[in-house]
Amino acid sequence: MDGPQRIAFIGLGIMGAPMAANLLKAGYQVAVYNRSPGAAERLAALGARPATGVADAVRGADVVITVLPDTPDVEAVFEEILAAGAPGLLHADMSTIDPGASRAMAARAAEDGLRALDAPVSGGEQGAIEGALSIMVGGEAADVAYARPVLEAMGSTVVHVGPSGSGQTVKAANQLLVAGIIELVAEAIVLVEASGVDPEPAVRVLAGGLAGNRILDRKAAGMLARDFTPGFRVDLHHKDLGIVLAAARAAGVTIPLGALAAQLMGALRAQGHGGSDHTALLGQVDRLSGRGRGTS
Ligand code: NAD
Repeated sequence: MDGPQRIAFIGLGIMGAPMAANLLKAGYQVAVYNRSPGAAERLAALGARPATGVADAVRGADVVITVLPDTPDVEAVFEEILAAGAPGLLHADMSTIDPGASRAMAARAAEDGLRALDAPVSGGEQGAIEGALSIMVGGEAADVAYARPVLEAMGSTVVHVGPSGSGQTVKAANQLLVAGIIELVAEAIVLVEASGVDPEPAVRVLAGGLAGNRILDRKAAGMLARDFTPGFRVDLHHKDLGIVLAAARAAGVTIPLGALAAQLMGALRAQGHGGSDHTALLGQVDRLSGRGRGTS
């Protein structure tokens, strides 16, 4: 077969572990590596080859996938991929990182005869488990076509959005929307509750009208219960909003609500809630409103 068969998968956290599991289910040969132990052993039980490091994982691989926390993590692993990867190896970075860093890595990969895609994801842990992620891909069309079957084993929506870095730019727009919508849903819930209206039917009717959105559909129940178990950690969304603001500055655009959302996320983190789900923005609205329910 012409398509990729052997995958190296680096970074087996909340997102990476179920994504790698879906590749195994789809019949790919997958070598896995994670900095902290445990996750690789769990995937080995599903048929993965646990690798001793990045170099060992990429040995013989057609595609190497990274799902790591932040830009410096991806850049460090990328250096190891460059050093160990055979010509033609395709690196698909599915982390959320700075678009400029993605472009720079793609250029360096090309100089060394490797190929690179930025392919960040949306859909959260549930989307990763269900293989239903939305994947926004930046890079060369031929490389996207080569990697597409692999990406489609992890996502139900795979869209080539433009050249290197474009996927990360679209992901930044995604994170801007998600942060702003969570904050507005949080404010709406607290407003309704503080006015003496039962928030559960309120959320149901709001979800059916023009204000309806996926955060209301998927997150409101947890928010009403003040259950802020991650999910998607405040630390990571804080990182993403830094990327959003830098991207806006680079593009010369002004995003006032995005800047405010970034400040609110930063305040939540500074107050010790970095490990909570990003819906903990609701707890902050509680506290700002003197309502004292905002535990997380
Ligand atoms: P996570 O912290 O759960 O997982 C990251 C994993 O990478 C950890 O297991 C860590 O041990 C490993 N790691 C870090 N540095 C490494 C290295 N040098 N070599 C090998 N392994 C290393 O994070 P996550 O929630 O899975 O998120 C990963 C990426 O996906 C982030 O960029 C995040 O912004 C993005 N993302 C997350 C979600 C979500 O809902 N959690 C949704 C969309 C996108």
